[in-house]
Amino acid sequence: MSPTKVIALPVLGRHAVNAYLLLGRHPIIVDAGTPGSGRLIHRQVAAHGVDPTDVRLIVITHGHIDHFGSAAELSRLTGAPIAAHIADLGAYRAGRAGQPYLPTGLFGRFFARTSKARETAEPFEPDVLIRGETHLSDFGVAARIMPTPGHTAGSVSVLTDNGDLVAGDLVATPLLGFVKGRPANPPFHDDRLGNLASLREMPALGPTKLHVGHGAPLDPGRVGRWAAAEQQRLDRLAARGRLRTNETAVA
Ligand SMILES: [Zn+2]
Ligand SMILES: [Zn+2]
Repeated sequence: MSPTKVIALPVLGRHAVNAYLLLGRHPIIVDAGTPGSGRLIHRQVAAHGVDPTDVRLIVITHGHIDHFGSAAELSRLTGAPIAAHIADLGAYRAGRAGQPYLPTGLFGRFFARTSKARETAEPFEPDVLIRGETHLSDFGVAARIMPTPGHTAGSVSVLTDNGDLVAGDLVATPLLGFVKGRPANPPFHDDRLGNLASLREMPALGPTKLHVGHGAPLDPGRVGRWAAAEQQRLDRLAARGRLRTNETAVA
């Protein structure tokens, strides 16, 4: 099968919120942006020379509004089915993220108090329910969906056979993509240690590049060093009993 090309589809700003187009034998889309961005993504797919009706699948990385906000609309526009992990099904059916948000820092604490945090999206029922590692060869792409729980219980990443990892919010860059190249936590994680465990399993898969929901691509080596330092920080917080986990979301 031909190598898969990964193309960022900016939904907000240059890198603040990204969806992705994966081009193999057939195209698939990973993530669907904020509510109301279906047409924007649809236009960008066409601008890359792809007939949007050829899109074979829309993979949603997790149950946060900035990733599934336009999933239903994009599915109608392209005719493509939606794949999403069963553990975030509640968010997809309700059209809103699981609550409460557990901030990872100042930005998250600020955001959690704004009305944006309670924004809703059109609900959807996934056509393909992900329960474990899932190969995408049936959809024409040399890649697989990997469960990477922690950010939410149903978080997944897509790893292409040539090493591109489309990682959703497994890791981000500071201030939603404003600082390039530097790894950072996204504003929230339901289970910070769980997410870090998922992130630290990634090097074993030999990724060559990390494509994130918020920010420009990251170098896996740099992410690995950041993750090791983050582990020490979280272990210290946990030892002092200062690490909250969203038990309701991590069922
Ligand atoms: Zn998220
Ligand atoms: Zn996000």
